[in-house]
Amino acid sequence: MCGIIAYTGQQPAAPILTAGLKRLEYRGYDSSGITVSARKRLRTWKSVGKLSALQASLPDTISGNCGIGHTRWATHGAPSDINAHPHTDTAESISLVHNGIIENADRLRDRLRDAGIQPVSDTDSEVLVHLLAMARREHAFTLIEAVRHVLRQIVGTYGIAAISNDQPDTIALARSGSPVIIGIGDGEMLAASDMSVLSRHTSEVVHLDDGEVAELTPAGFTVTTMDALPTDKASMTLSDNLNEYDKGGHTHFLYREISDQPETVARTISGRLDTRFNTAKLGGLNLQARDLLKLKRIKILGCGSALYAGLAGANLIETLSRIPSDAEAAAEFRYRNPVIEPDTLYIVVSQSGETFDTLAATREIQRKGGFVLGIVNSVGSTIAREVNGGIYMHAGPEVSVASTKAYTSMLSVFALLAILLGRTRDISPQRGSQLLMELQSVPEKLSTVLALESQIETIAKTYCHCQSAFFVGRTSAYPVALEGAQKLKEISYIHAEAYPASELKHGPLALVSKDTPCVIILPESDLLAKSIGSLEEIKARGAPVIVVTDSSQERIDKLADHVIRVPGADPLVQGLIMGVPLQLLAYHCALALGRDVDQPRNLAKSVTVE
Ligand code: GLU
Repeated sequence: MCGIIAYTGQQPAAPILTAGLKRLEYRGYDSSGITVSARKRLRTWKSVGKLSALQASLPDTISGNCGIGHTRWATHGAPSDINAHPHTDTAESISLVHNGIIENADRLRDRLRDAGIQPVSDTDSEVLVHLLAMARREHAFTLIEAVRHVLRQIVGTYGIAAISNDQPDTIALARSGSPVIIGIGDGEMLAASDMSVLSRHTSEVVHLDDGEVAELTPAGFTVTTMDALPTDKASMTLSDNLNEYDKGGHTHFLYREISDQPETVARTISGRLDTRFNTAKLGGLNLQARDLLKLKRIKILGCGSALYAGLAGANLIETLSRIPSDAEAAAEFRYRNPVIEPDTLYIVVSQSGETFDTLAATREIQRKGGFVLGIVNSVGSTIAREVNGGIYMHAGPEVSVASTKAYTSMLSVFALLAILLGRTRDISPQRGSQLLMELQSVPEKLSTVLALESQIETIAKTYCHCQSAFFVGRTSAYPVALEGAQKLKEISYIHAEAYPASELKHGPLALVSKDTPCVIILPESDLLAKSIGSLEEIKARGAPVIVVTDSSQERIDKLADHVIRVPGADPLVQGLIMGVPLQLLAYHCALALGRDVDQPRNLAKSVTVE
């Protein structure tokens, strides 16, 4: 979602800014722009649509060694050239990019109007730049002083970068709720909202924390509080080589990421299987066995696919540890003034570690004294830094907006956690050993599932023109259905809904017809006979049925139109394995329909606004 890049140094800024925006593209955006400062003049280019539109509007050479750039994901005002960032004041003396939401923008706009200043865009962000210019005129502030002064008047969230024509190599940065990271170079400094942009230039980075303001010049940086007190910032060395990540010879990142899963799941579990004590080893928990034993409840929070992984995780943990567990949408949780209990383990799940709603829930729990464990992919991200204990997914960078490999890594982490919690309670060493073996066998089973691609592609081509599809699963298969429906709607734009099998007859069956393909998840389990009953109900209404199963029951083949048969597995990993065919189904539907697979409309990768 919405990206920032800023550069000051010796090199021409424009190519660095546009290359940075290119790296940010994967987050999803609707317009982009840059401002470059040269000879005490700010020049701005911006354009709605893809980055290629901006690039086409740029002159061949742009002089200037300092500048800012932005990819916008509109929250206030439609995507348009005018609403795109950077925004400049009327005299074009300051230029600013902003990620986040200014909640009191209407009031501030009125104040500007009273002062005779008319914003030209519909965005909330533009008020900031006019307020900065006004503050400088009234108080003869430097840029950074003006930033501190203006931000005191702001209600909302922001990551900002601003430059001014009279301090041509200085960049002002500030953060409250939206990530800003400084990249330390040799005679040059950068800033971005995303580490992957900086990794190309430097491996030394500094994360701004909320309430901090920074000033960059080519010679270095200073970080201060809003009251201009210096803060002690330690730099961090980037460990992941984010530069090497590409499509791996495929047409889409999504396809690469689906195909990578045998390897990424292996990485997630690697070094975490304790075969001596037949349990899982999770280093960063910051919880002793004694603490785990005291837990009375597990509450998992996430958004989108992370929420669905959480629902599956709650099921696994409750089954193996008998600790009551559930999952809830992070924003719903934080806004309902939840009761925080001392003997509850709160688990937050986020691929990027920057998901605003999940971060806000984390802070709400911590403010009320709760212990929060993070399951995060992005090393050093805000959630990873703020939680009380954490488990990294180690899935590597995930670029496609729709989550695939991060999702299966989340499920792998939950499987590890379920084994660990189970082994501190009722699970015997023998059963623990079996479960570890099950987990170890997942990468190979995923390779078998990936080999079903041509069958799945044929099914996708048969049904991709349908208006609507249903995904159905019972208990542990229900989160699989939810994530399957999510994948299909995200990237193919086919309307898809997931229901627990038992709920069908309570409403949605009214919509089931020959035009609504139904995908039924049928894991081998005690409930299989009941689930086959649901299949019969759907078939009786004439709907085409696609079954994903690891059962060999012939009845399924008789009833279903298509059976995607995956390798059998313990319930610990059944959901993980059954989810992968649904990723391929969504991918091939999107491909057949000519959709923008990696950057689906209206969506963003890392949702850093509320
Ligand atoms: N709220 C701002 C806008 O709509 C910033 C959006 C973003 O974070 O990209 O322009």
